[in-house]
Amino acid sequence: MITASPHSRLSSPAPGWRELWRDAITDAGELLQAVGLGDRTDLLPVDDAGFALRVPRGFVARMRRNDPTDPLLLQVLPQQAEHDLVEGFTMDAVGDMASKAGHGLLHKYDGRALLIASGSCAVNCRYCFRRHFPYGEEIAAASQWRDALAHVKADPSIRELILSGGDPLALATHKLEELTLGLAELPHVIRLRIHTRLPVVLPERIDDAFVAWLAALPLQKVVVLHANHANEFDASVDAACARLRDAGATLLNQSVLLRGINDDAEALADLSERLFAAGVLPYYLHQLDRVQGAAHFEVNDIRALALMEALRARLPGYLVPRLVREVGGDASKRPV
Ligand SMILES: *Cc1c(COP(=O)(O)O)cnc(C)c1O
Ligand code: SF4
Repeated sequence: MITASPHSRLSSPAPGWRELWRDAITDAGELLQAVGLGDRTDLLPVDDAGFALRVPRGFVARMRRNDPTDPLLLQVLPQQAEHDLVEGFTMDAVGDMASKAGHGLLHKYDGRALLIASGSCAVNCRYCFRRHFPYGEEIAAASQWRDALAHVKADPSIRELILSGGDPLALATHKLEELTLGLAELPHVIRLRIHTRLPVVLPERIDDAFVAWLAALPLQKVVVLHANHANEFDASVDAACARLRDAGATLLNQSVLLRGINDDAEALADLSERLFAAGVLPYYLHQLDRVQGAAHFEVNDIRALALMEALRARLPGYLVPRLVREVGGDASKRPV
């Protein structure tokens, strides 16, 4: 929809999210230049350890300039330490890959089925298990959805369908529409949950068409965001969150505890406060999945528990996330 203001004809229209997605920074030299560190050749990664650098420009704009320890920069800039082979850090950290075969539906926990709706992400987070599984868009093939939805339909114990990935909002809105068509007719499915980092890293994704789709869904709606640091929020992210809430979604956030990025009580408390200001409640704080190439981000349990105690001492209970770890074979996320 184009709203004509007297001035809009003179400037070009704002780019859509697809365009912004394609325009992401993928070159380390360009990224360092953009944050004022262009002369720091020592920060240039030798290579990307097989997982490409990718970060939308709007997210880069929230990084502090001239600061090689910026918590947003460190989440996306490849580092030499990714080549370290560390005992216990494996290619398949959560042991899910067998069940991720076929139709992309994971039904590990009672009442909830999780669909790998898309393998793509707008940002490549260095600590992510996905670094070893850059599974492509083919996951979204309609035939696989039909199989996945047939499974959901046949199992009345499934109360909630979770769209995850990668990032499910990488899909075009008409694809999401296609996917959720028929879901509303299943009386046992009362809730749709979306796990997404896009409202944070590319808030333009929450556009009119998306909001219209979400608002029209006759289901309870939960959107679980992924932000690790208060600095990831700005006015554009606040606006995306407000639109999601207006469309009827309850907003939660999950974070990963990351060494050098958010592993101090101040940073975590600031994150919780910033989330609440955007209308989002903290949900999980994850202990890192032990994936090869991410060992340098790990925070040990003793320190993690001390941080939780510090958080409980300074925040209202509803702003304290649950510290959990995913363990293959468990019936739920495991509290640390
Ligand atoms: C994390 C996860 C869920 C959701 O768990 P909650 O504790 O309800 O957030 C569901 N299915 C799978 C396979 C998961 O990994
Ligand atoms: S957005 Fe999520 S799934 Fe995608 S790379 Fe980052 S952590 Fe991994």
